[in-house]
Amino acid sequence: MIVCEKIDQVREQVAGARSKDSARIVGLVPTMGALHAGHLSLIDAARRDCGWVVVSIFVNPSQFGPNEDLDHYPRPIGSDLEKCRESGVDLVFQPSAEVVYGSGCDTTVQVNTVSAPLCGRHRAGHFAGVSLVVTKLLNIVQPDRAYFGQKDAQQLAVIRRLVHDLNMPVEIIGCPTVREPDGLALSSRNAYLNERERQQATVLYRSLLAIRDAVEGGSRDSAALVRSARDLIEQSGPCEIDYVELVDPESMQPFAHLEEGRVLAAVAVRFGECRLIDNLLIDVGRDRG
Ligand code: AMP
Repeated sequence: MIVCEKIDQVREQVAGARSKDSARIVGLVPTMGALHAGHLSLIDAARRDCGWVVVSIFVNPSQFGPNEDLDHYPRPIGSDLEKCRESGVDLVFQPSAEVVYGSGCDTTVQVNTVSAPLCGRHRAGHFAGVSLVVTKLLNIVQPDRAYFGQKDAQQLAVIRRLVHDLNMPVEIIGCPTVREPDGLALSSRNAYLNERERQQATVLYRSLLAIRDAVEGGSRDSAALVRSARDLIEQSGPCEIDYVELVDPESMQPFAHLEEGRVLAAVAVRFGECRLIDNLLIDVGRDRG
């Protein structure tokens, strides 16, 4: 496995891999490290589809707000490299912030409508930071395919829109959310939870399942569905709800009344110092009412 810190090295290695086999498909899995089974499922998907797999590990400062956890974000680089090696990754790109932003960046990349609601409303500048770094990584590695988790559904929608709008020649692949046995979505931030908060955090997935059950039972009124999910979360113990919303899975715009098709139920809740998000895609059948 090759480990690179510099942009020129990555470009040289990717070009070398392509020159040996021009049909070779290059896959990119962008991460912020602290790799867990969720990240590894993306790497496995890339391994299955692509002849050459690049993983980037970069805790991107531009997507963290001033009061967020940039300084404390876990950075277990030794075990991350080991996991990449064991998973059959061909190249790890682990640049410093200096390498990515050192020469300055006067350009913004802003996907307007899709970035605005949900996490965009609660984390000012977050998706502009994500859009900028993903654009940079796609331009540096120039993969044929790039893999992202459905766990960060709004991020996935923002990137799909970005790649579409800017005619970038890359296929974006969304991969299913990997969960703990009790339903909690794997996240590097779960490490911040104390024992009580860890127990309580299962309410995220339970609230999403409750919404799905109610939709399957015929409920179509977004406000009522959101209200009962919020009640369930509030009854679980001390926490602060950022949002519970039912939105269009591509545009992220809220539905007042659910129509036949697909809806994304999305939640973000703070447990102590730890802000967690989760979501569920729900098939809405024809309204029988
Ligand atoms: P992060 O390191 O948190 O920026 O995540 C890197 C990639 O892994 C993103 O595309 C995430 O959506 C994805 N990811 C994070 N957690 C999970 C999970 N539990 N299941 C599937 N993908 C995930």
